[in-house]
Amino acid sequence: MKKNLLIVALGFLAIACVKEPVDPAIYGNTITSDELRTLLHQFASDEFEGRETGEPGHDMATDYLKEQYVSMEVASPYGNNVYFQEVPLEYQKLPEVSMTINGKKATMLEGFIPSRNVNIPSLNINQIIYAGYGIDDDNYSDYKNLDVKGKIVIVKIGEPVNKDSTYVTTGTKEKSRWTSGRRARVFKIEAAENLGARGVFIIDDSAHNYYANRYQTNNESSISKASNDNDTFSFIITQAFAKELFNDIDTNDTHKVVDVKIELSIKKNAESFISNNVVAFIKGEEKPDEIVVISSHLDHEGTEDGEVKNGADDDGSGTVAMLEIAQAFKAAIKDGYRPKRSILFLHLTAEEKGLQGSKYYTDVNPIFPLENTVANLNIDMIGRIDEYHEDDRNYVYVIGANMLSTELLEINETVNEKYTNINLDYRYSNETDPNNYYFRSDHYNFAKHNIPVTFYFNGPHEDYHKVTDTPDKIEYDLLEKRTRLVFYTAWELVNRENRIVVDKAEKGK
Ligand SMILES: [Zn+2]
Repeated sequence: MKKNLLIVALGFLAIACVKEPVDPAIYGNTITSDELRTLLHQFASDEFEGRETGEPGHDMATDYLKEQYVSMEVASPYGNNVYFQEVPLEYQKLPEVSMTINGKKATMLEGFIPSRNVNIPSLNINQIIYAGYGIDDDNYSDYKNLDVKGKIVIVKIGEPVNKDSTYVTTGTKEKSRWTSGRRARVFKIEAAENLGARGVFIIDDSAHNYYANRYQTNNESSISKASNDNDTFSFIITQAFAKELFNDIDTNDTHKVVDVKIELSIKKNAESFISNNVVAFIKGEEKPDEIVVISSHLDHEGTEDGEVKNGADDDGSGTVAMLEIAQAFKAAIKDGYRPKRSILFLHLTAEEKGLQGSKYYTDVNPIFPLENTVANLNIDMIGRIDEYHEDDRNYVYVIGANMLSTELLEINETVNEKYTNINLDYRYSNETDPNNYYFRSDHYNFAKHNIPVTFYFNGPHEDYHKVTDTPDKIEYDLLEKRTRLVFYTAWELVNRENRIVVDKAEKGK
């Protein structure tokens, strides 16, 4: 009798093991333009007041998302009714800075603009290090024989050019990330900080004048990550200010240590608050520790002159796409097809404030270890058509898929060929594109940790960041198709036999 039971049990086990793979299209087809339209008219309605980080409309949006997951019976990764990940942020204004150079008082906004997020009660500096362009790349470094640990580094904008007018860093006529795009300055600051510098002075007259003008007329607070005291700091300075530090800067370009006496104190001017990422979780059956993160940002830009900026495309489209994807996976689970790996649905706050929600998740408090994070599929604007595709509306920009994992790119291609047949446009998928899209949405915070990413994007359009980005302008048939593409890609990533391999990571990125 016992033996018979065992045979029956083994029989069941065998059946369970050879379970036929199900056709994911059964569940992909539950993602519909009608449902997306209904959800988006709720999420991007005036009621949520433009979902500005720190404002009541943002809280209404996070409550709405939580309710959606509760009603779909998609769990929280925290294992209870807590669907919010608290992200500590700050409203920051310009700090109070007192500085003398060789005993002479320097005045803020008249030669230097300080970074906001730092508190330094008192710092006496006797030397600064001039590091040219401040570039530290594979084939060119300004830091070769310089030890900048604990020091103040001074760098200039620009990058070296060869005799044939190609750029040294890229080897082509295209500028590198060190000079093109709005993160150029950040790269130089980060390079110095990565080498241990305490502070960076970056010479950039036009940036200085731009910010000085702006802050003189309006010292409004901006939102940033909560910062620690005694952090590193960076100042944008003018050429004239640099000449106060060493007067042959415009004639002598040699990297060198400069003796100069600086007395500096910085008092942060900030108020802290909490904003929430919304998180939901589907636990995998076979490899629950391996996580695929699907993300989009829930915040937008609030109101302008009393009018709500609905952010229907940016990023209402990505948000409701995620809800539909969660629902499709849930339908598969109800039929007995739980994914092999786990899925984290990550709705991010403060993307519009410098990718703060994703930065907090990846850099400070990942709910699941980053080394177990298989990939990030990030959706930011997939409901519209840009100016390049008016005659070819069946497209989506795919950014990042080719960067870290050959397999991820292949999966994008094969899944699309099989199920969705969208023209995948890779034109922005590189680090040197002047638009910098690779760095401009939340996926970048995963990519910088060598987690393969795909960013789905329709490109900017006439209503981008305007009060006219409304739900009635969304192309719902396209939104449906693009959402299904993300779903099928996620399905393959969580159900394939082996985790995708990171084979293209560059060191130091
Ligand atoms: Zn966006």
